[in-house]
Amino acid sequence: MRRDKYLCQPCLSKGRVMPAIAVDHIVPRAEGGTDGDENLQAICKTCHKLKTENESKRARAKLRARGRGQNFPA
Ligand SMILES: [Zn+2]
Repeated sequence: MRRDKYLCQPCLSKGRVMPAIAVDHIVPRAEGGTDGDENLQAICKTCHKLKTENESKRARAKLRARGRGQNFPA
């Protein structure tokens, strides 16, 4: 979070400045991502929701029993 200046990185790359509320895994743990800094980014509520929905869709396709996405409080 400190490295990313508490700003949402996906929004920033689209030219929007949004305060981040969570730390997100760029590559989800479920898909082989690590907990290393290079795989973490600060994201805002909107991006987190979108990403979690997409990831849980993919995860469900792979593993039906899997439920909600994870939250990473800032
Ligand atoms: Zn965002």
